[in-house]
Amino acid sequence: MVYCTRRGGKRMYCRVIVDIVHENVAKPFTYLIPEGMKLTEGQRVAVPFGRHEKEGIVTEITGVCDVAPEKLRAVLRPLEDYAAVPPELMALAREMAEQAHCPQAETLRLMLPAQMRGGRVRIKTVRTVRLNVSTEKAEEAVRADKREGKRSNLLKILSDGQTKTVPELSCLVRDPGEALKKLEKDGLIRITEEEMLRKPTGAYAEATDPGYKLTAGQREALEEILPCLSGKGGRFLLHGVTGSGKTEVFMKAVRETLDLGKCAIILVPEIALTPQMVSWFRGRFGAEAAVIHSRLSAGERYDEWRRIHRGEARVVIGARSAVFSPVLNLGLIVIDEEHENTYFNERHPQYDTREVAASRCSRENATLLLASATPSILSFARARRGDYILLEMPHRVNNRPLPDVEIADMRQELENGNRTVLSNMLRKALKECIERGEQALLLMNRRGYNSFVSCRTCGYVVKCPNCDISMTYHIGNADGKLRCHYCGYETNPPTVCPECGGHYIRYFGAGTQKVEEEVNKFLPGVPTVRMDYDTTGTKDGHGKILEEFRSGKARILIGTQMIAKGLDFPQVTLVGVVAADIALHLPDYRSRERAFQLFTQVAGRAGRGKESGRVIIQTYTPQDPVIGFAARQDYRAFFESEFRRRRNGLYPPFTILARLLIESTKDEKAAEAADRLEKEVQDLLNKRTEWRKKVLTVLKDSPSVRYLKSKYRRHIIIKALVSPETDGFFGKLTELAASGAEGAEVNFEINPTTMM
Ligand code: ADP
Ligand code: ZN
Repeated sequence: MVYCTRRGGKRMYCRVIVDIVHENVAKPFTYLIPEGMKLTEGQRVAVPFGRHEKEGIVTEITGVCDVAPEKLRAVLRPLEDYAAVPPELMALAREMAEQAHCPQAETLRLMLPAQMRGGRVRIKTVRTVRLNVSTEKAEEAVRADKREGKRSNLLKILSDGQTKTVPELSCLVRDPGEALKKLEKDGLIRITEEEMLRKPTGAYAEATDPGYKLTAGQREALEEILPCLSGKGGRFLLHGVTGSGKTEVFMKAVRETLDLGKCAIILVPEIALTPQMVSWFRGRFGAEAAVIHSRLSAGERYDEWRRIHRGEARVVIGARSAVFSPVLNLGLIVIDEEHENTYFNERHPQYDTREVAASRCSRENATLLLASATPSILSFARARRGDYILLEMPHRVNNRPLPDVEIADMRQELENGNRTVLSNMLRKALKECIERGEQALLLMNRRGYNSFVSCRTCGYVVKCPNCDISMTYHIGNADGKLRCHYCGYETNPPTVCPECGGHYIRYFGAGTQKVEEEVNKFLPGVPTVRMDYDTTGTKDGHGKILEEFRSGKARILIGTQMIAKGLDFPQVTLVGVVAADIALHLPDYRSRERAFQLFTQVAGRAGRGKESGRVIIQTYTPQDPVIGFAARQDYRAFFESEFRRRRNGLYPPFTILARLLIESTKDEKAAEAADRLEKEVQDLLNKRTEWRKKVLTVLKDSPSVRYLKSKYRRHIIIKALVSPETDGFFGKLTELAASGAEGAEVNFEINPTTMM
């Protein structure tokens, strides 16, 4: 809706969120709309602010002025002639700011390409030419032009009445510049500057459909989803084993959405890791698909955003931030691999993409489709409660079998004198795989700064007596200690196993490099490639490594969890999980969930081609139920056991874990700030009994990573019950964090993906 300055002679005002993140400017400011200026909610404007000019977004148009006349200033100009943030996204930004207890300026920033702010991208334009007179008039002019030069040639070309760009004309007539100018001056043609969109991929592929005969699972899932697309939407959790053909379900649902005249957003964990998915979508939807990824240039990103905003691209595929795409008439949001951590945005403003998507879908009557082979405990619990409709695809397409999973008992290996990271079973399997000309993946999920302590004889892992969480070894100034990161319990590392009395107490320490070294020693001359945080730092590091493997140049790919996600390499027939225990015993209540997801996902990379696959999980704790669930690939059994454990231990989703994270370049400053904040938290709880009742623990501690990115760290961990009072308390803590501390940075994080 467009309002004018004066309606019935009345002066009109607008409220503007100024694009500065500062506590004092969290609220909208009122400005006068100058006479004749047309503005609408969601439009970006330039406004005077102090002695500067700032950008802002109009949140409201009103006839009421709430500032003193002498303080009132006027909007300088609109930055675009349209609302950059459509009404649905304005409402979303408002809601998110409330929930994250942060200024709206922060959430509004999510809704716009970063490059748009501060006028950093220029719209690329092209000059277009069109007749300004009737075709008859133009033909007359051609006849009158005796010299038959450029001018009459140009007129002849244009006399079909179509608009041509100057570059197009230059291909037909050499250096048309002067001639065009003359024709324009004579009033025969019109030249205008028009916006041109950069197309990041150049030519689009033809839209093709492989015409699969749907599997029974795919058909049943679609029978549920499709009817919702034309109505008020629905919420689904698609639980389909690896290779069950979930992508094809997305494609069909998107197709239907488009046919209904609506738009779709497809979210993937990391676009760099899902090149196949992207090419499938591009192939199927051609120019209607917009792909948002981090390697787009600023201009390309902005242009993709424009294509979406103008309704030219109706399918958007991208990582979490694509959930804010300004599509018109949203019909469907798909979240693939919904269990992935990347959907949680930890820093400013904190949000969970799944929640944002759910909020958008219900506001815009769209359908939400979460999908995974290993749904998060939270989502599956919701599905079971009836918040989502559960769709299951338990079989792979073409009745391809799931890979066989075997367990290598590393305790046995030790007994047999093998002290290396590779069991004999895995060595033998690797050798055979390479000899057959196939490829292998080795997962080594080692995080450098984490370790756990276990008995090599019986597999006992030292756990906190209060928390059922493996303890982390901390090296102190004088001696080492084992500590629980949740309750603060501390103990000395055992020299003798309390379970079996064995003396082989070891700190698990091997990483991907060690594994690669071992493989190279064992299979000299077999090319390997390593993919982890260290090797993928460069631009397109992922792509290069994956290409080396895909082309067959490298035969064995060794990597961290990065290699578990979404890859479809038909030559891979062997997957080895080198040290399952590392993932399993991370000091985090989610370690079991993540371990199960990781094992299942990586196992799913095997046997996707014609040859069937084999998976070997190496562990010192073969009796651990999670290993068993993973080996049987039994998600349901895993879910039941984990859900029960969470409930008994009062972990999320039954409670909320939050923390104040304090970081400083000076250790004393961090410590001081932590002491003061802890006291303030306690004071708050003493003053407000309704808050105290909901808070289970408050613990000041050093995170396991005490020094990160040149900063010393402390944190205060808070475990609380899920309740409106807790929301209020957390709002207060957010304010506390925002007001900061001397010489230290403070962040308040609710259910962060890591407590390290
Ligand atoms: P998921 O995401 O569930 O692991 P994908 O979507 O990657 O599985 O599908 C696995 C493979 O099966 C892909 O190569 C895909 O093209 C193929 N596929 C999907 N549906 C069918 C079908 N109905 N018939 C034949 N092949 C299919
Ligand atoms: Zn504990």
